Amino acid sequence: MRRKPILLQWSLLLLGGIFVTHCAQDDQGPDPKATEVWQPEPVVVIPGKLTAPPSDAIILFDGKDFSHWQHKDGEPVKWELKDGAMTVVDETGSIYTRQGFGDCQLHVEWRTPANISGNGQGRGNSGIFLQNRYELQVLDSYENRTYSNGQAGSIYKQYIPLVNACRKPGEWQTFDIIYTAPRFDAGGKVVSPAVMTVLHNGVLIQNHSELRGSTVYKGEPEYKPHSDREPLMLQDHGDPVSYRNIWIREL
Ligand code: MG
Repeated sequence: MRRKPILLQWSLLLLGGIFVTHCAQDDQGPDPKATEVWQPEPVVVIPGKLTAPPSDAIILFDGKDFSHWQHKDGEPVKWELKDGAMTVVDETGSIYTRQGFGDCQLHVEWRTPANISGNGQGRGNSGIFLQNRYELQVLDSYENRTYSNGQAGSIYKQYIPLVNACRKPGEWQTFDIIYTAPRFDAGGKVVSPAVMTVLHNGVLIQNHSELRGSTVYKGEPEYKPHSDREPLMLQDHGDPVSYRNIWIREL
């Protein structure tokens, strides 16, 4: 048999030595298995392609009907349903999910009108209200200055978005929201505030923002106790803003 070259022999010897030393070290100290956690096993979820919903999402709007939605008085939705999207019809009122939600991951696609009219808060204004009272602002903020804590992606009058990730009017945009509902004690006092993290078109714009209370136009926000699950609301602010592909994962 041919002898192995001397360099290879030495290399094998060295590697063997490292291996033995390593094993000897692992024999000392606590058992690494003691810190392995196996339960619960995270449920396997198939991620959606692009903005398609993942397998465990509740589909709130797929462009076909308003079955998950109603107006405040329980009336059928009077917004326009066309080409897989719904569009605000002025003065018909905001719409609410029939189901209430608490902690959630929410995906919403929205589009402000291609035909620009108005300015500031009067251009493509709508809003996504978590639990019927905490507004994430929808607005045409593409080259349309308004107060920073009222532009698209602001938590209205409470948090300025980290950046302006707005696409042009007429283009579809996404909000991906991770929401933790506020907790109240038996006396109605806030134990922990509502918290929102938001990606706008895939860009982080709200990072664990802790809300100061319900959204208000005037004055300071404050908390009023409410149930664990409240409807999601889309705002009729008079502008023909469109929505599509809305899904939610309860947490
Ligand atoms: Mg609004």
